Amino acid sequence: MRALTWHGEQDVRVDEVPRPEIANPTDAIIEITATAICGSDLHLYNGIMPGMREGDVLGHEPMGKVVEVGEAVETLEVGDRVVVPFTISCGSCWFCGEDMYSLCDNTNPNAELIRKEMGHSPAGLFGFSHMLGGYAGGQAEYLRVPHADVGPITVDSDLPDEQVLFLSDIFPTGYMAAENAEIEDGDTVAVWGCGPVGQFAIQSAWMFGANQVVAIDRVSERLDMASSHGDAETINFEHEDVYDRLMEMTGGRGPDRCIDAVGTEAHGTGVGSVSDRLKQGVGLEDDRPYVLREAIKACRKGGTLSIPGVYTGDVDGIPFGSLMNKALTVKTGQTHVQRYLDPLMEKIEEGEIDPSFVVTHQASLEDGPELYETFNDKEDDCIKVMLTP
Ligand code: NAD
Ligand code: ZN
Repeated sequence: MRALTWHGEQDVRVDEVPRPEIANPTDAIIEITATAICGSDLHLYNGIMPGMREGDVLGHEPMGKVVEVGEAVETLEVGDRVVVPFTISCGSCWFCGEDMYSLCDNTNPNAELIRKEMGHSPAGLFGFSHMLGGYAGGQAEYLRVPHADVGPITVDSDLPDEQVLFLSDIFPTGYMAAENAEIEDGDTVAVWGCGPVGQFAIQSAWMFGANQVVAIDRVSERLDMASSHGDAETINFEHEDVYDRLMEMTGGRGPDRCIDAVGTEAHGTGVGSVSDRLKQGVGLEDDRPYVLREAIKACRKGGTLSIPGVYTGDVDGIPFGSLMNKALTVKTGQTHVQRYLDPLMEKIEEGEIDPSFVVTHQASLEDGPELYETFNDKEDDCIKVMLTP
């Protein structure tokens, strides 16, 4: 079958790879009808996430049709149309029992590799580092889905793929980011990053009762989407001082809730993007957690910082003194996607939200390598890429 594969820094290819087969009785095989490129894939693309191997199949935002089920699968049948969460969860460990699916204890066969660094391993993820299980991903014609009774949600309605696909990751991720931000009626919420995750965090902030949403980025098309579709006020961090503007907008108190939807690849003033720095041969040791620093400083005393943005390894330079003295609450984590599938599907079915607003590019799998580049460089007004194998 055809699949997008990883071959090193900024080197994604379309390869012919073996079609997956049922390996365990709880597996299902899905024929992919739509799949997306995520900001998390850019950490792999830019080579800042360790544990990738040449030829790994990428992708963790897939949906499609069930074509085969293992003998122990009870909830799915051949022919079902499903969206597949990016987190792989067993459904029976202590964490899954507590609805913390992305912390599943049983789905990372390589957990020992990171136990020393992290103390514990999060769940296995599709199309990601071998440190998180090394599962083949869904930017491919077919995908093997382990624990098929726990993850996928069946799509019973005739909603088109682009309206339900993002249940696999970015809609629940934006939603959990807003939930983690502990938004109360009347709050001002600041969202750093107007990529797909930021856009869904903005939509979700309103759902949780925000009175004012402020979106921060430097890419004008993304800021435009945040303001036109997301009703957010915007700050372009290349033209304005973020801290000063946020103080101005909140009478000097700071936003009640801050969401970092950027993560490790934050562009700081004068620092340059990770890919810029790699091109210039500037070491990543100069990296500062730019958005975290800004958010901690701007957040109002006693406020909440929610971090859906992905970080790896140790991150130095966090103003822990202000975090402590301002009594901030911090919440973060990979998204517990399974927890949100039913309620968010209901919102889509009832027309409360149409997640397809975020799609700017639709193409075939063969165009994947080029679109990785476009999405990474934020060219051609690219906000979200959907691929149809
Ligand atoms: P993206 O790369 O498309 O968007 C990031 C945006 O941040 C870009 O528009 C960029 O211009 C902006 N940005 C860069 N530096 C900034 C700064 N200093 N201030 C404000 N904005 C800045 O990515 P995405 O798909 O929206 O994902 C965003 C983050 O969420 C990534 O780190 C991704 O890995 C993470 N993510 C987390 C989960 C989870 O489960 N927690 C799931 C999906 C994605
Ligand atoms: Zn993703």
